Amino acid sequence: MKICFATNNPNKLKEIRQLLGDQFDIQSLEDIGCREELPENQQTLESNSEEKARYVYDHYQVDCFADDTGLEVSALDGAPGVYSARYAGPQRKSEDNIQRLLEALKGKEDRTAQFRTLITLILSGQVHQFEGIVKGKIITDQVGTAGFGYDPVFKPEGHAQTFAEMDMETKNKISHRGRAVQKLVEFLKKRS
Ligand code: IMP
Repeated sequence: MKICFATNNPNKLKEIRQLLGDQFDIQSLEDIGCREELPENQQTLESNSEEKARYVYDHYQVDCFADDTGLEVSALDGAPGVYSARYAGPQRKSEDNIQRLLEALKGKEDRTAQFRTLITLILSGQVHQFEGIVKGKIITDQVGTAGFGYDPVFKPEGHAQTFAEMDMETKNKISHRGRAVQKLVEFLKKRS
């Protein structure tokens, strides 16, 4: 069964193909001929991931899923949330985003945060959503060089290392995206 993952991130594609490759033909946006930028104009992770999936479903008539992730910081009332990629501006630079986050948390005692991923799947026109959360805290200095985004300042609950100190396999087992993907995989496997 063919299903498109509406992402331009080759790492995400590789990961999902490893998990589902034997049962599903996971297509990239390029595979279905979609080269335009997907709309991402909504104010929640739920509606943003749905907007992307719906765009692909409506324009290309293929079953598909899309994901959206945000870092939700308690002391900042859930910010940067859906704006995590562009928290410090449209240049979407991780280093700038981290600096803005550390600045915003200066002097705050509560440094708890969570990463939350929403995956929207559209299968034969039906919408299904899967959520993955990992709780943790924002540390005061960057530690580690692996990963991307806010990884060097995020330490997941129950772990001594930041995400940026973990290898990809360890991070995927406990991460927000890993958990949401696991739910999607279980759902799709039941359907196949
Ligand atoms: P996306 O929806 O997966 O593109 O994620 C949006 C933004 O959230 C990214 O640009 C990163 O800044 C941040 N982000 C998402 N996932 C992670 C992660 O696993 N580690 C660190 N930052 C992340």
